[in-house]
Amino acid sequence: ESRESARCALAALEAVKSTVDDNVAELGRIDAVAGDGDHGIGMQRGADAAVAAAREAVERGAGAGSTLNRAADAWADRAGGTSGALWGVALRAIGAEFGDETAPGPRTTGAAVRAAADAVVRLGKAELGDKTMVDVLVPFADELESALAAGSGLATAWDAAATTAAKAAEATASLRPLRGRARPLAEKSLGTPDAGAVSLSLITRAVHAVLAR
Ligand code: ADP
Ligand code: MG
Ligand code: MG
Repeated sequence: ESRESARCALAALEAVKSTVDDNVAELGRIDAVAGDGDHGIGMQRGADAAVAAAREAVERGAGAGSTLNRAADAWADRAGGTSGALWGVALRAIGAEFGDETAPGPRTTGAAVRAAADAVVRLGKAELGDKTMVDVLVPFADELESALAAGSGLATAWDAAATTAAKAAEATASLRPLRGRARPLAEKSLGTPDAGAVSLSLITRAVHAVLAR
């Protein structure tokens, strides 16, 4: 069953890559308002490398946890930038929660997303309201866990959480950045959402399509 889960993890990463490919220019544009404009290209390098590594792992018969671990290392190595390191620890945390033995169910998936949020906060030290991807990741994890606790199936809970993520990403437009490269350009950034928050929101929506099929 973990082989099947590994294939599902690969499909999710392929969906990540596809939505990043579709939005690479827009993510770069958003990052350029108050950052250095490389968020689209960095996410693209990371997602490309992660998919290639995950594909190789699945072909070797790896379980879901190992597949995500290989993807995490590849992402962090190839993406560069702050978000590359953060996506690396996020995917590694999900892989650790999944492991290779059994197929991760809805509760494990909720716990894995929570572990990813904790790992990103631990590494990046951003707080809610600092105008980073954390402003999407934490409410996404909260909504996913509470929808699952209320009895929703994984696809339904993920759908609700992805909707929360989209709203949270939009809401970062009114924040002043307190972390990362955008901080010195705080005033310029007002009215534009955070690039990493937007990419994460797009990714949660893309992954829902995989879970729903
Ligand atoms: P870089 O800033 O190194 O050019 P990217 O442009 O790829 O890297 O990523 C920028 C995004 O990373 C920001 O929009 C923000 O969401 C996220 N980010 C930056 N610093 C932090 C942090 N300390 N904690 C969480 N997320 C952060
Ligand atoms: Mg950047
Ligand atoms: Mg950069």
